[in-house]
Amino acid sequence: MRARRKTRKVLVGPVAIGGDAPVSIQSMTSTYTYEIDETVRQIHALATAGADIVRVAVPESRDTEALRHILPQVPVPIVADVHFHFERALEAVEAGVHKIRLNPGNIQDRKQVDRVIRACRERGVPIRVGVNEGGIIERKDKGKRAEEKAALVSDYAGHLVRIMVDKLEEYLRIFDQNDFADLVVSAKSIDPRIVIDAYAAISERFDFPLHLGVTHAGPKETGCIRSVVALGTLLAGGIGDTIRISYASDPILEVDDAREMLNCLGLRQRVEPELIACPTCGRIEIDLIKLVKDVRVRLAEIKTPVKVAVMGCVVNGPGEAEGADVAVFAGRGKGIIYVQGQQTRTVTEADMLDALHEECVAFAARVERGEATLNTGGVTIAPPDPLPREDGSMPLPVVGR
Ligand code: SF4
Repeated sequence: MRARRKTRKVLVGPVAIGGDAPVSIQSMTSTYTYEIDETVRQIHALATAGADIVRVAVPESRDTEALRHILPQVPVPIVADVHFHFERALEAVEAGVHKIRLNPGNIQDRKQVDRVIRACRERGVPIRVGVNEGGIIERKDKGKRAEEKAALVSDYAGHLVRIMVDKLEEYLRIFDQNDFADLVVSAKSIDPRIVIDAYAAISERFDFPLHLGVTHAGPKETGCIRSVVALGTLLAGGIGDTIRISYASDPILEVDDAREMLNCLGLRQRVEPELIACPTCGRIEIDLIKLVKDVRVRLAEIKTPVKVAVMGCVVNGPGEAEGADVAVFAGRGKGIIYVQGQQTRTVTEADMLDALHEECVAFAARVERGEATLNTGGVTIAPPDPLPREDGSMPLPVVGR
């Protein structure tokens, strides 16, 4: 992991982006913003899942009008996503929105962009300036468009990154001429390699905080890989100040995965339980996959970062579950539960979920009362005796004895 690169700091309501602020998580509602109750509900759900900032689309004036009712009801700062209509940006600022997302390339003329910048400066509202791979080929100037398209043929990725960075520089000049530096910058593509190269180039050239994202990443199953490859690589390299993972799916999933990625990189302090589980193999003797799914659902109710291990047997389980606060080692229809290395009980497969859940809840309560410490190092789980088969034979090799 490289040290975070230094950037300016921008305030989005009470949430800071860049500088010494932790990497924040963003998401975007999938509701029609003018449907106020639905939008408020989804913003609350996203905030509960861990979103620090939420963006909403404002394509019509009824959406910016709705912002006046939405803003007082939600617990996180709101960003208005503006495309094509500068009036929406002015209305959103007037309504009290905390940040504007603007692509100067799709606002009709320069004077309109200047007006938005003036309004944002007067209200202390920051702007995210974004270039997207799909939108950088200049639409207005046909000659330039043909030139840019031709350039892409020979070295697609290289030229695209150069065009994206040039375009961004062109946009940033507009803000500079307006003496406005309250900016967050993004440069998104559907290709993780282009995302990595574009942000790396931008981070060398500017010190604005960076909003990382892969655009149109697809459904969660593949979008997750694209996003984690691009954003994880950049973050590990010290680049990135706020992130949005985007899926063609429920936005709550975006926040869940963004949070887990930051946890994995040590860029966020875990506040929820951590679940580790074995992948299963030919030694498995219970339905572990189902158990893991069910445990995951149960753990979502616990608000303490308890580390929980669900292991199919004692072969590799103990070593890999070391450091787990609560662990179960399953055998033939049974499981042995450990709490911080101490064996607490043996239960049948049918009782395993409830018993594990009870132990997790009880342990979390002890942590909350200050009677136990989380993930304390040095917890060694001694391999339990393998559970004998009904005929008395031992199904597993005895390990580590
Ligand atoms: S813990 Fe046991 S069942 Fe699970 S993968 Fe390892 S050896 Fe296989």
